[in-house]
Amino acid sequence: MKSDWPRIIAHADMDAFYASVEQLDNPDLRDQAMVIGSNSKRGVVLTASYQARKFGIKSAMPMADALRRCPDILVVPPRFERYQEQSAAIMAAFADFSPRVEAISLDEAFIEMSGAEGLFGTPQEMAQQIKAAVFATTGGLTASVGISSTKYVAKVASDFNKPNGICVVPPEEAVAWLDPMPVARLWGAGPKTVPRIQRLGLYTIGDVRRADPAWLLQKLGRSGVHFQTLANAQDPRRVAQRRSARSIGSDRTLMENITSHADIEKHLRRSADRIGHRLRQKGLRCRGVRVRLKTADFKLLTRQVQLPQPTDSSDQLYEVAIKQLTRFQPAQAIRLVGLAAYELSREAEPQQLDLFSGRSKMQALEAMVDRVSDKYGSGAVVRGGDLGRSGTISENSPNLDFIDDIP
Ligand SMILES: [Mg+2]
Repeated sequence: MKSDWPRIIAHADMDAFYASVEQLDNPDLRDQAMVIGSNSKRGVVLTASYQARKFGIKSAMPMADALRRCPDILVVPPRFERYQEQSAAIMAAFADFSPRVEAISLDEAFIEMSGAEGLFGTPQEMAQQIKAAVFATTGGLTASVGISSTKYVAKVASDFNKPNGICVVPPEEAVAWLDPMPVARLWGAGPKTVPRIQRLGLYTIGDVRRADPAWLLQKLGRSGVHFQTLANAQDPRRVAQRRSARSIGSDRTLMENITSHADIEKHLRRSADRIGHRLRQKGLRCRGVRVRLKTADFKLLTRQVQLPQPTDSSDQLYEVAIKQLTRFQPAQAIRLVGLAAYELSREAEPQQLDLFSGRSKMQALEAMVDRVSDKYGSGAVVRGGDLGRSGTISENSPNLDFIDDIP
């Protein structure tokens, strides 16, 4: 390997993640044109299998369009818990390569590999080992890996030889490699911005790179400067260790030890209401939810999960939390119940209404509860369910791995 790599950054991205998980779990779906999503008129395609992509079907396409393109297509409803489970396994595999892993979605992460040559070899060898680790830990899923010395080029590279691909772009070749790519490959150039750039007569990344900087600034403002920086394969952003270290939580130490899930659920209900209220007050949403239980003998048990969409809904926090309960060993005496929301963000990401049907109604209800609580103090509104909640724990408990137990 040449010595002129200022940094080594890998971007690993799972291939057609949701669809591949379903095809892995259900052999009948393998080699089939299939999409993940809800089979309703308002539904959208969450992920299309590679067989479906041959029909021009892709993520975010309305389901009606997908059915028009391929009437026989199989529509499989999403199982987010399963995807989260595989995602956790994948992220854990990445963590074996570097202490610095930045997950940017359930199925994608940057891995800082600078200084890891002694352990893992050349960038090409690093990519092979990352892919092999993903394949092994998931039981057969493939990732594509891009490696370069900036986050931007690594991300473009991971997409370059998809699926199941590797693309290593040495830093001294990055500019020439980017030059012929369409401007849509520029980070931050979305469906609105791409036509604006093209109207300036700039069609490739090379066109943007060669444009006069002052003219670009005048035409596109600061984003013009940003695009030209990327076109020069410059990207000062470092791989962040975590999306956010901040969290909003509520730990409840109990007067008496409890053992029943129904009792734990009651405490989680109150914590979820409190945390949801604070999220909404602060205009934040969370992507991570963590449940902590402390046993009578002071063992701390932790389960955490990443949501497919950030949320500020108390009900969703609660639902996610009680699903995590199924991942703890049953019938232990518990002295503390904790719930925390983390990976907080302020951006309003588009909601996929089909995934959480009745969501807007729920939001209206929660806004009402917030108003009453602000006026009369929390506890002024008690949910009917709190008055005598039965101990129903939601369906399929995935597995009882205890990897993240903190002794
Ligand atoms: Mg992916």
